Amino acid sequence: MRQYWSAKAAHPDAILLFRMGDFYEIFFDDAKEAAPLLGITLTSRPAKDGRTPMCGVPHHAWQSYVGRLLKAGRKVAICDQTEPPMSGKLVAREVTRVLTPGTVLDEVYLDPAKSNWLVAAWSSGDESGLAACDVSTAEMQLCQLPTTGLAAELDRLQAAELLSPPDVERYRFDPARGQHRLRTLLGVHFLASIGAEGAPLAVGAAGVLLEYLEHNRVPLDPRSLRISTRSIDASMQLDAVTVRNLEVGALFELCCRCVTPVGARSLRRWLWAPLRDPEAIELRLSAVAELTDAERLELEAALRRLGDLERLASRAASGLATPRELGQLCRALAALPAAKVHAGAGSALLLRQLAADLTEQPELVALLGRALVEDPPAQVNAAGAVRPGYDAQLDAIASASASAREWLAGLEAGERERTGIRSLKVGYNRVFGYYLEVSHSQAPGVPEHYIRKQTLTGGERYITPELKEREAVVLNADQDRAAREQEILAELGRSIAAVSGELLGTAAAIGQLDALVSLAATAADCDWVRPLISSGRELVISGGRHPLVERSVGAGNFVANDTHLEPERGDMVVLTGPNMAGKSTYLRQVALIVLLAQCGSFVPARSARIGLVDRIFTRVGAHDDLAGGMSTFMVEMTETANILNHATPASLLVLDEVGRGTSTYDGVSIAQAVVEYLHDNPRLHCRTLFATHYHELTTLAERLPRVRNERVEVAEEGNQVSFLHKVVPGGADRSYGIHVAALAGLPPHLIARARQILAELESHRPLEPAAQQLGLDLQPGEAELRRELAAIELDQLSPLEALRKLYELRGLT
Ligand code: ADP
Repeated sequence: MRQYWSAKAAHPDAILLFRMGDFYEIFFDDAKEAAPLLGITLTSRPAKDGRTPMCGVPHHAWQSYVGRLLKAGRKVAICDQTEPPMSGKLVAREVTRVLTPGTVLDEVYLDPAKSNWLVAAWSSGDESGLAACDVSTAEMQLCQLPTTGLAAELDRLQAAELLSPPDVERYRFDPARGQHRLRTLLGVHFLASIGAEGAPLAVGAAGVLLEYLEHNRVPLDPRSLRISTRSIDASMQLDAVTVRNLEVGALFELCCRCVTPVGARSLRRWLWAPLRDPEAIELRLSAVAELTDAERLELEAALRRLGDLERLASRAASGLATPRELGQLCRALAALPAAKVHAGAGSALLLRQLAADLTEQPELVALLGRALVEDPPAQVNAAGAVRPGYDAQLDAIASASASAREWLAGLEAGERERTGIRSLKVGYNRVFGYYLEVSHSQAPGVPEHYIRKQTLTGGERYITPELKEREAVVLNADQDRAAREQEILAELGRSIAAVSGELLGTAAAIGQLDALVSLAATAADCDWVRPLISSGRELVISGGRHPLVERSVGAGNFVANDTHLEPERGDMVVLTGPNMAGKSTYLRQVALIVLLAQCGSFVPARSARIGLVDRIFTRVGAHDDLAGGMSTFMVEMTETANILNHATPASLLVLDEVGRGTSTYDGVSIAQAVVEYLHDNPRLHCRTLFATHYHELTTLAERLPRVRNERVEVAEEGNQVSFLHKVVPGGADRSYGIHVAALAGLPPHLIARARQILAELESHRPLEPAAQQLGLDLQPGEAELRRELAAIELDQLSPLEALRKLYELRGLT
């Protein structure tokens, strides 16, 4: 237990796996926490003061169990037996590995299609600093940003592990400490060399990150590490709500036809961070355009052979690769020339740039090819990885071992002949090793150089110096061979580390090429077109489709729709139509087309002209955030407030059913007030799509010049409606809620009663848009006055309140 506590004290925040014989045991609170996560039984063992909770896993299966703990976000320390057990003596134990979700390198714990970010982040007033490191690909990004943007950035990274105050003390984020660490650990002498001179808070965060890696003994080779500083303005920030509303994850699944894990990771980054620089977007679009033809297939075939060059190279450079992985690396590198040729063949600038970034490694390929057998073993210290003929010393060990075995095999016959002793036998046991055995009766005839070792009832056992020598050769040969192989593999690792910078740069280019090929494949497959990107404020789409809904209803069944937002024509659309008509689909489709275009992808439309968008804000559908402890309505209002506070004239706003989460009058009022606010506030002159089933809002277009009405058409026959999913000019004149309820299969009686209630309600308040129907010319404010009047609940009003209301209403005219 003393051993246990000293290990635990060094890693108090980790679940300690303590090796005892064939098991890793987990004790005390660790056991209580781990047992349910591991799906194993919590037991206990007797202790001085009652019983100690414990659970255990078989030692040979620790990896999969540890994987579950890491998935649950826990840290794990492995305390191993560091010497062979001997009876009567306490075996020495030591923490040999600390595994954390953000620092694991083992392939089994990593998702090939995802970067595994360890993130340190903190805020100081209005500014925040962030550093993210993917140890598996030796990549580090720094970023300093306004504190308001930090949450979105953290959402985007989806950190495997986050280091931030108060779990990490604030003084550790001191930029001076960070700068010192960058210098001593990574040799970064000038912050400018990594673009971080104006980002002290990010440097402070980098310091915390490096300190953590050092503490957990995570190998990080400065030669491999690629550090860069990200400007937050370079890409569009997508907050978590928008990512979820637009189902960016599902979009990724649809678009990802990458043939390498590096490519999948690149594409994921692209989709989560659409670009804002028109030149960068055009570079990608031109590359995708070129790859939509046959050239793509050849490049794709070449890329397919490259595997996960990034993680392979990084593991090999840190000496963690298995012999099999070194073999894979060799084959991947051998495929580089073909990829380079096919990427460089076209005329698109980006393709040629990326082709130039692929550094071929003929020497390394030759070296690995010479050194490794065809199919090297998968275990780190398994023998048989090195090809015969590669290393003289290894060959000498092998041939000495072979000849010693041969000598031993011939020994019995030779000695019988030489000594004339017919009963002489060669044997082997674990205590003496090889021996010569002769029966008692013939013992007097043994040669003088035989050394007697043991007397048995049936005979005598002897050894000779030569026998022991040969035995040593045989017995040590396996060990020597393994040791020499490890030396050779380590040497290969060093050769790889020497060019790891080039390898990882190459891998990054492979990732981008693969992402481009993937986008081109999707475009060709789903019939997408190249969008026109401009710096203006227009958003003009003809024949736009929702890529995910289109896939689910089948390509022929999706009704394409146009979008026309332009400052001159009105850039706010109030979209009405019954539930289920297709409003949300339409809204999301517009947002997704913008998102895809700014990622440099083709888009699901007949044509699209897109003025650059700085951010897409969405508020789609009412949903509960029960985990966050907020009611639907509160969530809705919080999200709306976030949008109103952060949108700029270059933003795209997609608002669906704002105000749905409360009673009708409240809802209509809030919805209308939001539209008015967006319309009137110059800071918010942004392209806006506002969907609502409150058909009352259609009157706004009459007095707000930027607002235009559109509706999703339905066909009506008697009391039946069918959805046409077609967006047309003009507003809906009623909600069709009861029609939809009927479609959904509510009982006919209930529906009939609902129609009756509706008729009664409508007889009590002016039907809207009443003014239009009656042909009246409304004065400004009159519509509002009518609405206010209609909203008064007369039966509830006290005389005093009625008087106050009257004054208020007079103020409106
Ligand atoms: P709303 O937001 O108006 O309630 P949705 O956008 O959720 O309606 O659409 C309801 C369903 O109608 C979708 O799940 C989809 O199956 C179908 N749909 C929507 N738009 C289209 C379209 N343009 N073409 C074909 N089907 C559509």
